[in-house]
Amino acid sequence: MDLFEYQARDMFERHGVPVLGGIVATTPDEARAAAEQLLPAEGGVVVVKAQVKTGGRGKAGGVKLARSADEAAEKAAEILGMDIKGHTVHRVMIAAGAKIATEYYFSVLLDRAERRYLAMASVEGGMEIEQLAVERPEALARVAVDPVVGIDAAKAAEIVAAAGFGDDVKDKVGDVIQKLWTVYEAEDATLVEVNPLVLTEDGEVVALDGKVSLDENAGFRHADHAELEDAAAADPLEARAKAKDLNYVKLDGEVGVIGNGAGLVMSTLDVVAYAGEAHGGVKPANFLDIGGGASAEVMAAGLDIILSDPQVKSVFVNVFGGITACDAVANGIVAALGMLGDEASKPLVVRLDGNNVLEGRAILAEAAHPLVTLADTMDGGADEAARLAHAAA
Ligand code: GDP
Ligand code: MN
Repeated sequence: MDLFEYQARDMFERHGVPVLGGIVATTPDEARAAAEQLLPAEGGVVVVKAQVKTGGRGKAGGVKLARSADEAAEKAAEILGMDIKGHTVHRVMIAAGAKIATEYYFSVLLDRAERRYLAMASVEGGMEIEQLAVERPEALARVAVDPVVGIDAAKAAEIVAAAGFGDDVKDKVGDVIQKLWTVYEAEDATLVEVNPLVLTEDGEVVALDGKVSLDENAGFRHADHAELEDAAAADPLEARAKAKDLNYVKLDGEVGVIGNGAGLVMSTLDVVAYAGEAHGGVKPANFLDIGGGASAEVMAAGLDIILSDPQVKSVFVNVFGGITACDAVANGIVAALGMLGDEASKPLVVRLDGNNVLEGRAILAEAAHPLVTLADTMDGGADEAARLAHAAA
């Protein structure tokens, strides 16, 4: 889960990372009130920053300086509703203005290939960091971080030395890096990135922008992370599936897919996409793994979610009977269709194989539900489901 900048800022603050004041606003009036709080009495600036989960806001015109509360309201009016790389701006953060002397870069992230963490730092941070990484990779220090040791004082010193921070700032930057590591470790993040990390004209090192990704698999350790979720952005079908503990991911196609076991479902998506090429280019509409011991209730809940997706024109149920044998699955399908009644309105292609396959097929043949077609093979089932979806489209 990626956080908005204002959420990252608040998280940094809780862990002692130096940040500037920041208040989130959803209307120009709220932006004015926030700026009134943040503008120093002797005059100064605030920064109005689009809150979207994508980089390059500055270049897109989503970061603007304001010298008064009225100007902050004006800039907020300009930025709210703006589209930045496909993300609509629904809120801005009004941030206290910094007098920037130098912009640095720091990040720590999960390095899956090396099975470690990786810290990156540069004394040339700011909006051109991607270009810098490509054109002068030597200016972006990369230091491996042992997950057991983390970033202690010695590792922080190694990172600042590798990046070439001067003697005047290296201790301060090292301290901030250690605090950012605390955020990474304590919050179970997979990415903490600060660009720019700035040196102010007063000689302070401050995190001026923050990007944090949290590991959702560690969510059980962090009751407070649930409320960081952007409910408005969640797909409504995915939200319903999550409430029923289903492993469901919405995709863009027309063929609903239900299977048992993540590997089987993944390969079913491939087979459906391939079969769809011969049927008007239809594609899988979702990933849904109903797991090993799928009961009639789970099958009904899964079918219910898939059938209520208006994009779905047909459904392919691909089950390999193991511990839960095919006859139990077949009974589950029949019961689920009974539970759904008239809501089950789209053709279902069912392919069963594995434990007690003959009994399972016999149960479905016996039920002879008008919407259900039996398939002998995975390829055959995918082809039939794709054909039906194309015919109904
Ligand atoms: P991004 O473009 O999405 O990464 O947004 P940032 O938060 O990094 O802001 C982009 C740029 O705006 C920074 O690199 C700074 O140069 C500038 N900026 C951000 N906050 C301030 C500030 O408080 N004062 C000044 N003068 N510039 C700022
Ligand atoms: Mn930035």
